Amino acid sequence: MAKIKATCGACFSAVALNADGRIARHGWREVGGRKAGQHGHAWHVGNCFGSGRLPYETTAQTTVDYLDHVVLPASASARREVDRLSARPTLYVEAHMNLWYGRNDPKAIATLVIAPGSEPRRYVRELVCGEVEGLPTWKADFPAYDSLLQSRVRDANGRLSTITEAVAFCAEKIAAWTSAKAA
Ligand SMILES: [Zn+2]
Repeated sequence: MAKIKATCGACFSAVALNADGRIARHGWREVGGRKAGQHGHAWHVGNCFGSGRLPYETTAQTTVDYLDHVVLPASASARREVDRLSARPTLYVEAHMNLWYGRNDPKAIATLVIAPGSEPRRYVRELVCGEVEGLPTWKADFPAYDSLLQSRVRDANGRLSTITEAVAFCAEKIAAWTSAKAA
């Protein structure tokens, strides 16, 4: 028997219904038909908010809750990040280095501190770690502050505009449901 499908109230993909009439568990990435990034989904991975909730055909409540609990908070945090970056704060970069040779070998991680106005440079030091012999020399590239800030600002603005689209998308879907019921 083919499974009955309905529209998820969060990602708006067609998803199988469980026997109780609720949307089956699904993730953003597994569901076809909608490219990651469309309607703001690039910022949310994993189990979809609409899993286990009633489909859009039944109610707009899933979309209302998704907007209130996921999209609007994400929008506020994206806005805060854009504001924070406009004050030219000190930035941090995580640098990784393989301790041995393979991809799955343990990694050393360091946080590089990039102060406003700093130029690119290379950081080199011997790792000191009592238990392990023969560790290689740590090398990490410090990016220039201005180019790093520029790329962080670009990312933050991209994220904000994606989430702003998602806010509009949800609001539209809620309004469409309400007017369909009124008709
Ligand atoms: Zn979904």
